[in-house]
Amino acid sequence: MSMMDDVLLNARSVVDSVGNKAGKVIDRSKLRLAALDVRSELSKKYRLLGRVCYEANKSGKNYEAGIKKLQGEINELNEQLSKIKEMLVQTGDKVKCPDCGTYNAKGSVFCNRCGTKLPVTKADNDDEFTIEELLAYAEEDLDEDISDF
Ligand SMILES: [Zn+2]
Repeated sequence: MSMMDDVLLNARSVVDSVGNKAGKVIDRSKLRLAALDVRSELSKKYRLLGRVCYEANKSGKNYEAGIKKLQGEINELNEQLSKIKEMLVQTGDKVKCPDCGTYNAKGSVFCNRCGTKLPVTKADNDDEFTIEELLAYAEEDLDEDISDF
């Protein structure tokens, strides 16, 4: 399976695995990737919704069912995104011990478990995506096929 095919699946599994991994902190880079991917999907769905509304208006054809379906998908994606954001918040205040892998409170100097000196945590304001990043995603697949609607 290619990495791109795998991305949304990963986004889903990251979210789904939270319940199974209570107490275990998930890799933040994976979470960020999942968040970016869900945003990308959202941006596509919103754009598709706009296109469907435009075509419906133009042609007078009834796209009601397609619009409802898209709205449902958008709701689901928004739910996923807020779960991922929540996890980013939860994991953001931990610093991982390079020696034993224990997660310590942010700002800790030594590991609570083994006493190893911990790396200094840098300012973490990288969770939000810039408008440029979002627009880059919006540039993709401009020719959606709406024949299913
Ligand atoms: Zn340690």
